[in-house]
Amino acid sequence: MESLIKTNWNDILLKLKEDYNITNVAFKTWITPLAFHSIEGDAIHIVFNGENPGMSISIIERKYMTQLRVVIEEVTGKEFSRIIITEPGMETASDGPHIQNDENYKLNLRLQEANLKPMYNFDSFIVGPNNSMAQAGALSVAECPGSYNPFFIYGGVGLGKTHLMQAIGNYIVENNEELKVLYTTSEAFTNELINIMRSGTKDNNDINEFRNKYRNVDVLMIDDIQFIIGKDRTQEEFFHTFNHLYMNQKQIIITSDKPPRDFDLLEERLRTRFASGSAVDVKNPEYETRMAILKQRASLTNYDINEDVFEYIADNIVTNVRELEGALKQITLYASLANQPITLSMAQEILKHIINPDANTKVDCRRIVEMVAEHYNIPVSDLLSSKKTKDIAYTRQICMYLCKKLTEETYAGIGRKLNRKDHSTVIHGVNKIAEDMEDNSSVKRNIEVLIKKINP
Ligand code: ADP
Ligand code: MG
Repeated sequence: MESLIKTNWNDILLKLKEDYNITNVAFKTWITPLAFHSIEGDAIHIVFNGENPGMSISIIERKYMTQLRVVIEEVTGKEFSRIIITEPGMETASDGPHIQNDENYKLNLRLQEANLKPMYNFDSFIVGPNNSMAQAGALSVAECPGSYNPFFIYGGVGLGKTHLMQAIGNYIVENNEELKVLYTTSEAFTNELINIMRSGTKDNNDINEFRNKYRNVDVLMIDDIQFIIGKDRTQEEFFHTFNHLYMNQKQIIITSDKPPRDFDLLEERLRTRFASGSAVDVKNPEYETRMAILKQRASLTNYDINEDVFEYIADNIVTNVRELEGALKQITLYASLANQPITLSMAQEILKHIINPDANTKVDCRRIVEMVAEHYNIPVSDLLSSKKTKDIAYTRQICMYLCKKLTEETYAGIGRKLNRKDHSTVIHGVNKIAEDMEDNSSVKRNIEVLIKKINP
């Protein structure tokens, strides 16, 4: 089999390019440097001989892995369960059968069986006020699996739910050799079930196998449970899986985009079960957390990145950690392809399509100041200046109040946007307007009009 793949390697790569319309530059950068190394069990080992291997491999893993597996299967007729890509010189790390005894190898194997990504661990998870409760809960579950059942993590897109859930899994796999852990998404669970039902065989082997797979574990993680809503058969099957594990005091971990109580269409019996455990949420990260995440990610690259670039990204991408990381990746990718150092103007240019398209709909401090300035007919520059005349100072306080009310910014963040050195000025301003609104109905009406204008 090795020689079959070796002789066909170039064809495999070319087929990959053609079947999936990979551009010339992407093909040259990421695909042609891939060299077949060996077959290890049901895995294919490939070495990446190109530039910037660390980053390139992570891009290849994200973008081309499935396609590559499909093409290899089409060309060789053999299905490989996984593909390992390493940097040159690292080949021996998972080389050949003599490594079978190696602790690391065994750990990696168990992680793969559990369907876990090693990089999603507690060490790489930045804790901030937005997620500290969730992180603490997750760590408790990891320490004592079975103690908080089910453990439910909810929150918006890209805020770290999958990361935290997998961190629990990684921790358990690493520290409890005897426990069997399994991560899946509710979509994968559903698809597996649908395929079994579609194949329609008379004997029950497939469905029994499916049930064994999910019931014979000590820790079951189901990511994004919201996707089983409305799928009656899946809900039914999941309910029985859940019950089986629950009764046997096995740990169940679930993530979702909303809290258990908000699942209107979920069967009552499942909702009750979900609500019986403990639920934690992840919120949007504050400015400081965004900065910390960016810096941690940047430390994994070879780039020296200036504070102003971090600030620019953290100021403009506020609601989603995945986008935050994506922005940084785009910048480092561009810098590596263009072979240039990273500068603020480069970052602004690269990110303009992310940051600007919704600039006129996204409510941020800048937009608020502009709208308030227009409403009161005071120049923006006066609001951002140190001028203290009564009108300007009061209007500026209105800006502070609206920024606090309509954005996720902290007092310090609002201070920065409004050129105030001291965040206590902002606290004072916000409180002043809140009080005036209570005392004076025309101030209240005015602010309400402004809110409608800003946030139609
Ligand atoms: P979700 O499942 O909530 O949609 P993910 O867990 O997939 O979000 O997170 C999106 C990306 O952001 C991942 O790459 C993850 O590692 C990263 N991320 C999210 N929160 C944090 C955090 N607090 N510290 C470090 N990385 C984070
Ligand atoms: Mg997720």
